[in-house]
Amino acid sequence: MVDKFKDECGVFGIFGHPEAANMTYLGLYALQHRGQESAGIAASDRQQVRISREMGYVADIFDGETLSGLPGPLAIGHVRYSTAGESKLLNAQPILIDCAHGQIALCHNGNIVNADELRDELVHQGSIFQSNSDTEVILHLYARSKAGNIDDAIVESVKQVQGAFSLVMLTKDRLIAVRDPHGFRPLALGRLGDAVVVCSETCAMDLIGATYDRDVEPGEVLIVSADGMRSIKPFAPAPLAHCIFEHVYFARPDSYVFGRSVNEVRTELGRVLAREQGVDADVVVPVPDSGVCAAMGFAEESGVPLRMGLIRNHYVGRTFIQPQASIRHFGVKVKLNPVRSVLDGRRVVLVDDSLVRGTTSQKIVKMVRAAGAREVHVRISCPPTISPCYYGVDTPRKSELIASTHTIEEIREFLEADSVAYLSLEGLLSAVGTERSSYCTSCYTGNYPVPVPSGEATHLQLALKLDTTAEPVPR
Ligand code: SF4
Repeated sequence: MVDKFKDECGVFGIFGHPEAANMTYLGLYALQHRGQESAGIAASDRQQVRISREMGYVADIFDGETLSGLPGPLAIGHVRYSTAGESKLLNAQPILIDCAHGQIALCHNGNIVNADELRDELVHQGSIFQSNSDTEVILHLYARSKAGNIDDAIVESVKQVQGAFSLVMLTKDRLIAVRDPHGFRPLALGRLGDAVVVCSETCAMDLIGATYDRDVEPGEVLIVSADGMRSIKPFAPAPLAHCIFEHVYFARPDSYVFGRSVNEVRTELGRVLAREQGVDADVVVPVPDSGVCAAMGFAEESGVPLRMGLIRNHYVGRTFIQPQASIRHFGVKVKLNPVRSVLDGRRVVLVDDSLVRGTTSQKIVKMVRAAGAREVHVRISCPPTISPCYYGVDTPRKSELIASTHTIEEIREFLEADSVAYLSLEGLLSAVGTERSSYCTSCYTGNYPVPVPSGEATHLQLALKLDTTAEPVPR
């Protein structure tokens, strides 16, 4: 229903808290925006690792009884929107195995680009996989490791995978956090009293009252045990490639990711967009919720007043049943409703964070016009999205990305807008701050920092659950 890149996954881990599973539940609750298909928690009482995972929302899956079945001071958790692997309970995380090194549970945010290759080798050597998930590869590598202790076995296994991975793992007496050397996905480290907390975004720390300490560094393996915290840097140095889309859309605006406030960056994107692509207008209207921060920045910079000309219904659940196809645009109407008093007779700047296929935006423009807008100018607070992501984000294939097949003028025609304009790549990089070269911008440039398999077929293998029935955007 919503034409966006899909959030990947969210991970959370805590060591040394008497209510570790409860804290993890709350952490996952705060990270729900990063994945709504399944959620799971694994906890250890230092004797045994226990697990609970289900399809659905965090609040629906866990109750007092489930959480009391997960005792102990160590826990990890995961919310998932499937990237590689199908959306089934089998692929829900954490994944728990018992092997020669003992029990280990694993949660992963990202995508391992050499998973197929490693999987073929492992199957050849006798491994039997339980899921389609790329994540399981790491556990098989761990189980087969001949290293003399758990820490070495972990390092040996993660060193063999390539791509994007922010991992949290749990053994019966250890919490382990790992970030790939490029630092694609965020992973923050903090404290709650004496307990150590790791999580995808700092909004999870805010909810449980933890304080942010620093990020788990790109290329760092952090092992937390009763002996304290041990940091290992086993990877060869690699260029940084933080996912810039975290700032554009994925992360919650109240989070800090890659050391920067998402709200501040997103608002600055709007300011820069107004400087680059200003237009005579009466009102700035955000496409809620994702366009709000950028619209505020746009309004502030341009001096054009910000008004909520579209209201979002927050109570549309996953189970909403699409009525007959004859009721056109119903999917958008049930989520967004125009405010005629704001739009009627006005020249409207409609600000959104990104444009993927363009199909939803087309319906929104129609809706705004139908509410009486005299002109509709679409402004997008990131550059044209021209290439798929292979690093843990669900993106349509290249042919479905409107900006890869259409010129700006053709996009304007498709959307039936009076004008369409995007933020420049330079503008985007300027808004994220001084460390501009540390960001991945592949979906805007097509230049990938970690080599990915070529060809559509391999792409579809990498992201197995892509909707293969989707049609390219009509020209
Ligand atoms: S390709 Fe785009 S979405 Fe994927 S990691 Fe890079 S910036 Fe993020």
